[in-house]
Amino acid sequence: MAMNQKSQELQAQGVDVVNLSVGEPDFFTPDHVKEAAKEAVDKNFSFYSPGDGYMDLRKAVVAKFKNENNLDFTPQQVIVSNGAKHSLANVVMSVVDDGDEVIVPAPYWVTYAELVKLAGGVNVVLETTVENDFKITPAQLEAAITPKTKAFMLCSPSNPTGSVYSGGELKAIADILAKYPNIIIIADEIYEHINFVGKHESIAQFENVRDRTVVINGVSKCYAMTGYRIGYIGAPLWIAKACSKLQSQFTSGPSSIAQRAALKALTSDNSFTVDMNKIFQRRRDLVLQGLSEIPALKYNVPQGAFYLFPDVSAYFGKSDGETVIKDCTDMSLYLLAKAYVATVPGDAFGEPKCIRLSYATAEEKLRKAMTQMKEAFAKLK
Ligand code: PLP
Repeated sequence: MAMNQKSQELQAQGVDVVNLSVGEPDFFTPDHVKEAAKEAVDKNFSFYSPGDGYMDLRKAVVAKFKNENNLDFTPQQVIVSNGAKHSLANVVMSVVDDGDEVIVPAPYWVTYAELVKLAGGVNVVLETTVENDFKITPAQLEAAITPKTKAFMLCSPSNPTGSVYSGGELKAIADILAKYPNIIIIADEIYEHINFVGKHESIAQFENVRDRTVVINGVSKCYAMTGYRIGYIGAPLWIAKACSKLQSQFTSGPSSIAQRAALKALTSDNSFTVDMNKIFQRRRDLVLQGLSEIPALKYNVPQGAFYLFPDVSAYFGKSDGETVIKDCTDMSLYLLAKAYVATVPGDAFGEPKCIRLSYATAEEKLRKAMTQMKEAFAKLK
């Protein structure tokens, strides 16, 4: 968000910045969903909604979990919140107590680590490498487990790396966690539908961990509805009840209008999402081609989400004659100042060798960004 702001400031000064720092689709919400929101206004959905969300929406979420993920939840296990971020906050606040350890694979979405700290917990960060597609190994996970481990956080498809765990990899992780029945699994699946490998795999599919897995999802990314602020969980009943209590005191139910729109999105066919996914894949390939023309970068080939996370550390210590690049923040600032491309430094995600590029922007802008970045990298000696 800070880089986004800096790039907007430059833009306000007349500089044509290509903004690759954003974390949201650049598409407009589909028309049928917008119509549902307008209709909700006209039909006077202006009163408080139930604290856990409208029952018909929660039932639609139950149907989504069943149809798309083959997961069985009751409506009581589904809580609708103000975005997946709020869902996650409810869950972390509900399960993490002072001194509890939460295992968080890095690179991680910034909010995970901050929420754990806010709840008084301790982040146990698992390092990964670009060579291993930024994925943890089961052995690494097991080595990090202690009697204080309360939860394990998993994000697939991942922000910021675009990595997607396969069914086999998730099973291996589930088999480790099955040995430790007190650990709660928090599976953030908000990028479920932005996936270039086919069917989404959820760790909740494995029976040996299902009864203590919380699945977090929402409409923000897959229906281009980030501003509507609707997320949800499918959770063990006791966790859902705790989230419900918290939510009823903090926020009450989420926006009535946004919920009616989310209901429409969830109960319509997925053609919007399928088309968007194809566009994201083309853009990914375009950016990968651009990165391949810049020497000494290391990167994985993301299989989902809309981010690339190149390791730029080969350029640390180099200079264009004016600026010495000491770290990833210097690199992001350099690219903004000299290539007019906004990115996010990787240290925000627990990986200081990398920068994050979002390709949630039009192809011609991506081409321009890659050309300008290539020139800026070439100046670093
Ligand atoms: N989880 C991840 C990994 C995200 O990247 C984001 C948004 O950037 C969210 C959750 C939050 O989604 P929402 O906008 O629904 O709060």
